Amino acid sequence: MLDKEQELLGLFQTLLDNLPSGVSLMDKDLGFMAWNAEFKRLLQFPDELFGPDTPDLRKLVLFNARRGEYGPGDPEDQAASIVERARKMEPHVFERTRPDGTVLEIRGRPLAGGGFVSIYTDMTERKRAEQEVQRTASFLQAVLDNLPFGVMVVDKDIRCRYWNRQSEGLFGLPPGFVARGTPMEDVLRQVARNGIYGPGEIEDHVARRLAIIGAFQEHALEIACADGRSLRVMGAPVMIDGHPQGMVLIQEDITERKNHQATLERLATTDHLTALLNRRAFLEGTEREIRRAHRYGQPLSLLMLDIDHFKRINDGHGHPAGDEVLRRVAAACRGLLRDEDLTGRLGGEEFAVTLVQAPLSAALLVAERLRQAIGRLEIEHAGRRIAVTASIGVAEHGAGAEGLEQLISRADERLYQAKEGGRNRICPAAAATMAA
Ligand code: GH3
Ligand code: MG
Ligand code: MG
Repeated sequence: MLDKEQELLGLFQTLLDNLPSGVSLMDKDLGFMAWNAEFKRLLQFPDELFGPDTPDLRKLVLFNARRGEYGPGDPEDQAASIVERARKMEPHVFERTRPDGTVLEIRGRPLAGGGFVSIYTDMTERKRAEQEVQRTASFLQAVLDNLPFGVMVVDKDIRCRYWNRQSEGLFGLPPGFVARGTPMEDVLRQVARNGIYGPGEIEDHVARRLAIIGAFQEHALEIACADGRSLRVMGAPVMIDGHPQGMVLIQEDITERKNHQATLERLATTDHLTALLNRRAFLEGTEREIRRAHRYGQPLSLLMLDIDHFKRINDGHGHPAGDEVLRRVAAACRGLLRDEDLTGRLGGEEFAVTLVQAPLSAALLVAERLRQAIGRLEIEHAGRRIAVTASIGVAEHGAGAEGLEQLISRADERLYQAKEGGRNRICPAAAATMAA
């Protein structure tokens, strides 16, 4: 051999021995021409296999088959079929898991002048890492799918990375609509089309929502959906190394909670028998209206209404009949008054009405209409007709800083006068003239 050739071969072997993968070269008759140390190490081939005779493929695969490298089966058959395949010299890439769990990637390419090169790379660590990533993803998905609210995680390009079934459900997204990498814009558009964001232009909704998410800021909003549901949506940025890398978006159906809250509020502010405002709610509301009237210089009047000889109704017809009268009188008030007026049952058979933007003259007209309406009520109980009348005291809120108590006490005085004057009548009170 020429020195030059010798030198090149030496270089070639050094190169092979320093590669991170196992390499073997076979000639066209499947005899091994060259291999490196990593090849023997990875496949755990004993040195004896590479004795003075050039090893051939058949010898190595038979050794492999006998030590169970190819799984159960007859080693001779296994070796024969592998050699048969190798003769075709077709390029290939495949993975083989060795009995000890090592995963090898085996890559084969035919050589230009005949023969074959095989490269063996240890993929065990990469495989393990991949599986770990998969496991972590499965855990994460299980956590997401078992949360009591919808979650959608978007990356910094506002594309979907993670989401759960609850999120799809709350937004009415068909399964499979959201995929990994789906632009959030597409999702928002579908959500807007589903009426979740209420009426308005679809594209306006999309732009507004995108701007909120794209600000990468913590936020919380309540959405009144077209279908009557209330959703609470929240977002928080995913910060990595101090920079926002995405957003965690959370959706919660708060319809039930809101309804429940509204029921509690209603219960706390209404009189259970008549469904009018209870004493506390009426007084609070009236105080608010007095402040408002004072601020805008608008008139406001108060009526105090008391059913005449109610004790006799109770005594003559029974307590349930009395209750029925209270309900009917309350309904008569409701029927005559405007929505912005306040009507309350202050207790017993005593009612009060706050008429907003009403001077005394208007209040007197309302009071008279109320008195007449109550007098005309046709109430029957146990086959007997019950006649009802009421007396009403009227007072207009005075100038300056007249308080609720003073206003009520003036109206009360007039009510007392109406009673004294024979009942079933109204008694006005002129607006108090207060020193400025
Ligand atoms: P006046 O014409 O002077 O107002 O006489 P009155 O009998 O209406 O007045 P009084 O205040 O003496 O009687 C009110 C009665 O209302 C006494 C009480 O037993 C009755 N009452 C109070 N709350 C209720 C209720 O919730 N249901 C019924 N049925 N009666 C009630
Ligand atoms: Mg009474
Ligand atoms: Mg009374």
